[in-house]
Amino acid sequence: MNKISQYFGELTFNRRTMRDKLSKSSYDKLVATIEQNEPLDFSIANDVAHAMKEWAIENGATHFTHWFQPQRGGTAEKHDSFITRDEEGNFIERFSGNSLIRSEPDASSFPSGGMRSTFEARGYTAWDPTSSVFLIASKKSKTLVIPSVYMSFSGDVLDLKTPMLRSQKALNDVVIKLQRLLGNRFAKYLKVAVGVEQEYFLIPKTLYCKRPDLQSCGMTVFGASPAKGQQMSDHYFGSIKSKVLAFMEDLDEQLYRNGIPSKTRHNEVAPNQFEIAPLFEDSNMAVDHNLQLMNIIQKVAEKHDFVALMHEKPFAGVNGSGKHVNWSIYDNTETNYLEPSKSPLKNLSFLLTIAAVLLGINEYSDLMRASIMDAGNELRLGGHEAPPEIISVYLGEYLSNICDTIAGSKKFSDSEIGSINLGLQHLPKLAKDISDRNRTSPFAFTGNKFEFRAVGSNQNCSESLTIINTIVSWGFEKILTRLKSMKGEVRDNAYLVLKDVFLETKCIRFEGNCYSQEWFDIAKQRGLFSNLNTPESINIYSTDKVRAVFKQFKILSDREIDAKVMVKKESYSNSKNVEFRTAIKLVRSLIQPSITKQINHLAETILNLKQLAIENVNLNQELSNLLECYNAISQEVNKLKELVHSCDVCQDIDCNAMKYAEQGRTIMTSLRIAVDNAEKQVADEFWSLPKYHQLLATII
Ligand code: ADP
Ligand code: MG
Repeated sequence: MNKISQYFGELTFNRRTMRDKLSKSSYDKLVATIEQNEPLDFSIANDVAHAMKEWAIENGATHFTHWFQPQRGGTAEKHDSFITRDEEGNFIERFSGNSLIRSEPDASSFPSGGMRSTFEARGYTAWDPTSSVFLIASKKSKTLVIPSVYMSFSGDVLDLKTPMLRSQKALNDVVIKLQRLLGNRFAKYLKVAVGVEQEYFLIPKTLYCKRPDLQSCGMTVFGASPAKGQQMSDHYFGSIKSKVLAFMEDLDEQLYRNGIPSKTRHNEVAPNQFEIAPLFEDSNMAVDHNLQLMNIIQKVAEKHDFVALMHEKPFAGVNGSGKHVNWSIYDNTETNYLEPSKSPLKNLSFLLTIAAVLLGINEYSDLMRASIMDAGNELRLGGHEAPPEIISVYLGEYLSNICDTIAGSKKFSDSEIGSINLGLQHLPKLAKDISDRNRTSPFAFTGNKFEFRAVGSNQNCSESLTIINTIVSWGFEKILTRLKSMKGEVRDNAYLVLKDVFLETKCIRFEGNCYSQEWFDIAKQRGLFSNLNTPESINIYSTDKVRAVFKQFKILSDREIDAKVMVKKESYSNSKNVEFRTAIKLVRSLIQPSITKQINHLAETILNLKQLAIENVNLNQELSNLLECYNAISQEVNKLKELVHSCDVCQDIDCNAMKYAEQGRTIMTSLRIAVDNAEKQVADEFWSLPKYHQLLATII
C-alpha cells in the first residue's frame, strides 16, 4: 500500500492543483478568500472554473454538480454534464465562471417552510469557495462537486450551511473587537475549529433486507432485548474483528483520497457499534467533510455487504449513536482561545472565552437543546449512555478552581497541575491533562476545546454549530458592553467582569454524573429541567428572545425563523408518520401472522394432549398469555391507525406534530411493549423478522 501522504486529497481540487492550474494572481486571490475570509473577486471566476474543468476532465469527470445542504438533512445534488454547443454548433466541454458561481436547480420539492410555495418557486445554489471542490467517483465516470449554499429567489436561507457561515462571521467580528480593546493588534480574523466524532452501526446486508423497519426508518421499531446486549462492555475498544477492519481500511483509504483526515477508529459500547473521528479542521470544512464521510461510510459498507446505520437509536435497550462536536476558536496567529496555557489565571483571552461560553449557554440552554431535538435524537437522549436532555457545562476540577478563585470563593495557584504518579519508576512520567473527561455531560471542556455530545449521529452539525457560535457571540458582546462602560484599566476591569460572570453562571455548571437521579433533582431545583417534547422544544426558535439574538447577529430573519420552525416540525411529523405506518404494516403483515402460528401450534398441542386425556395447565396459561398479547397488539395498532389517519386528514403542521409527540409516542410505547413481549413467546421458526440477537451478533 502507498503511503497515505502520497494519495491524500487526490480527489480534491487542492492547493497543489490550484497552484498548478491557476495564474499566480487568481491563485492568490482565491487563497485569500479561503483563508482570510476576503470577499471573492468575481473577475477570477472564469479562470477558476476553467482550471477546475481541466483538472476534472483529466481525472475522468463528465459532469458537475452544486452540492448543498437542504434543511431536510443530508446533502443534495443535481448533475449537469460539461457538454455544450459552441458557436459553430459543435459539441464541446465547457464550464464557465457563471456556472461555477451559481446554479438554479429546480429543487422545488425541498422543504422551505412555506417560503417558496407562497412567494416564489425558484431556488439558487451559490459556490462556497471556502469549502473544497472534489470529485465523486462512480464505476464509470466522475462528477465535479461544488460545495454550495442554497437560497430562495429573494435571498432567503433555504439551507443549513448559510446560517452557520453567518454565525461564524458574527463570532469573528465580536471576538476581534474584544481583542482590540484588550490591546491585541495581531489578531486579524477568527477561525472556528471543529472535530466531529461519528458513531454508527454495521449490520449484515442480508439481515437488513429482512427488516422493513430498518429499510424505511433506519431503525428497528420492534425487537426484544437479547440475553447478551452490552452489559459487559466487552465490545468497547475491543479488538477490531477482521471483516470490520477490512471495511475500516477501505473506508480510510476512500476518506484520504477525498482529503478527509481520518484519525481514529474503534469499537463503541454497543455490539457492532463503531466510531470514526477525523482530525479537526476549519468548521465549514469539518461539516462538509462529515457529510461526505457519512455518504462514503454507506458506500463502502455496501461494498463489504454491510449496511451502515447512522440513525440515533437503531436498537432499543443498547446505546444509540451520537456525533460529538468538538469546538474551539483560533485566530490567524494560531492562538487557541481555549488553550489555558501555562498561566491560565493571567490568560485573559482564555478566561474571557470561557466566560462568553458560560454566559451564552446559561442564557440560551433551551435553544441549544432545541438545536438537537428531532425524531431520531428524542429516542436517544437520556437513554443508555446518552447525554440527558438537560443542558449543562462541565469544566473539570482544574478550570472550576480557576473560575471559583476569580469569583472569590477559592484560592488557586498555577502550580496545582502536576503529573500522575503511577508508583512505577521505569515508566515515563505522565503530565496530567488539564481536565478529566466527564462523559456524562452534554457540553464538556476537554483540555483545549469544548465537546458537545448531545448532537445526533444523523444530524447535520451545522445546526448546533450555528447555535453555539451565536450564543457565544452573545456572551462576548455582553462582556464587551460591560467593559466599554467601565472606567480605568481594561485588564483590571476584565477581572471584575469575569468575577461577575462566574458568579452569575454557576447554575449552568455541573461537575457530577449527569446520568444520575441526583442531577435530575438538582437541575429541577435550578430550573434547568424543561419537560418540553420535541415540537415544543422547536417552538423555542420562535420566541421573542431567540428572534432578538438571531436578529442582533444577522443569523436568521423572522421569515427564515418561521420557515425553519415549520420545516423542523414537518420533518418531525413525517418521520413519525413513516415510523408509525411501518409499525402498523409490520404488525399486520408479519407480526400478527407469526403470533397466530404460535397460537395454532399451542392450541393443537393442547387438543392433542386432551385426546390423550392429559391436561396441561402451563400450556393453557401460555396460550392465554399469548392471546392477551395478541389482543393488546390489535388494540394499540388500531389506535395508531386512527392517529395516523387523523393526522393525514388534518394537515395542520403544529397540531400533527403535537399529536405524534404526545399520543403517538404513548401508543407506540405500549404497542412496542406488547410486540416485544410476544416476540419472547414465539418460536424462532415462526418469527419472520430477524431478532436482535441475530442483528447484533458480533461480526467476525
Ligand atoms: P475523545 O474526545 O474521544 O477522547 P479526541 O480528544 O482525540 O477524542 O478528539 C476528538 C476530536 O476533537 C478529534 O476530531 C480531534 O481532532 C478534535 N480536536 C482536538 N483538538 C481540537 C481543538 N482544539 N478544537 C476542535 N477540535 C479539536
Ligand atoms: Mg470525544
